[in-house]
Amino acid sequence: MSYKAEYIWIDGTEPTALLRSKTKILADGAEPPVWGFDGSSTNQAEGHSSDRVLRPVFTCPDPIRGGANVLVLCEVEEIDGEPHSSNSRALLRPIAEQFAAQESWFGIEQEYTFFKGSRPLGFPEGGFPAPQGPYYCGVGADAIFGREIVELHLDRCLAAGLEISGINAEVMPGQWEFQIGPAGPLEVADHMWIARWLLYRTAEEFGVEATLDAKPARGDWNGAGAHTNFSTKAMREGYDAIITACEALGEGDKPMEHITQYGSGIESRLTGAHETAPWNKYSYGVSDRGASVRIPWQVEVDKKGYIEDRRPNANVDPYVVTRLLVNTCCSALEK
Ligand code: ADP
Ligand code: MN
Ligand code: MN
Ligand code: MN
Ligand code: MN
Repeated sequence: MSYKAEYIWIDGTEPTALLRSKTKILADGAEPPVWGFDGSSTNQAEGHSSDRVLRPVFTCPDPIRGGANVLVLCEVEEIDGEPHSSNSRALLRPIAEQFAAQESWFGIEQEYTFFKGSRPLGFPEGGFPAPQGPYYCGVGADAIFGREIVELHLDRCLAAGLEISGINAEVMPGQWEFQIGPAGPLEVADHMWIARWLLYRTAEEFGVEATLDAKPARGDWNGAGAHTNFSTKAMREGYDAIITACEALGEGDKPMEHITQYGSGIESRLTGAHETAPWNKYSYGVSDRGASVRIPWQVEVDKKGYIEDRRPNANVDPYVVTRLLVNTCCSALEK
């Protein structure tokens, strides 16, 4: 007997990578082995030397095929075993290890937008829906578009064993959010990439596209972000560490270092309007949805907890945002 392993990897498309996958049939009891693919078709190689290597790093049940079938997330390597330049997970590994003793946790809020053809789901053909107001966490066919996809995606994430912690309808019609976490840096990012793959794959069954575009509709509509909630053991135990982390993120070149790697099209979303801070001005504040970094009100009351970096775009690479936050905040907290 045999089972199906769906090998999933992140390609080399600029500025925002795409997910790719293909199926390998394995004998019962066999572990998914190292495999290969044609990197010239994924922006990861030139045609004359195009073999690239898929190294399995995270495996979970395949909630679509069911049974013994699995999803296999891979890192991409050169044939000599070096990480490919598109492999951002390889950059996170040593940083996660260096600061492992601080026990970083992340909760990432993934916003996204469904499209039917060239229009967000729920936008009438040739016109616009009523302005923002009733859609966020709404109910009813006049406010909600695509719930059947969202519910199926949630069930599939749970069946795969992902650390999904919730879902909600967002501020624009056809716009939604799911959250992954709390979990460590590698785990939250691996689960996020699988959850994204399941989202595209599930929406595909409905003839709908899910996009992580940071500003999917121009005009007076909210963009799509990936608020990244972050804590270390010290932050979960005391307020000084919370402030140290907020200050560290504002020091010197740090705001630019982060913002330039927080996803493509960040200036189009972080305008200072629509519950955002302007991209070129760092700030933090309690309960402040117009700040770059928010300290939730309950955290100020409890004098411990976590912070929310509100800057990352929906299309951010979770391996990158976790690496930057661990590196910046844990370095400062170590002092
Ligand atoms: P918001 O109120 O900004 O919409 P959400 O409820 O959507 O926040 O998401 C908050 C995320 O933060 C969840 O994924 C949650 O699991 C995560 N979280 C909770 N506590 C912590 C913590 N101490 N450290 C990191 N992440 C946390
Ligand atoms: Mn072939
Ligand atoms: Mn949220
Ligand atoms: Mn949201
Ligand atoms: Mn948030």
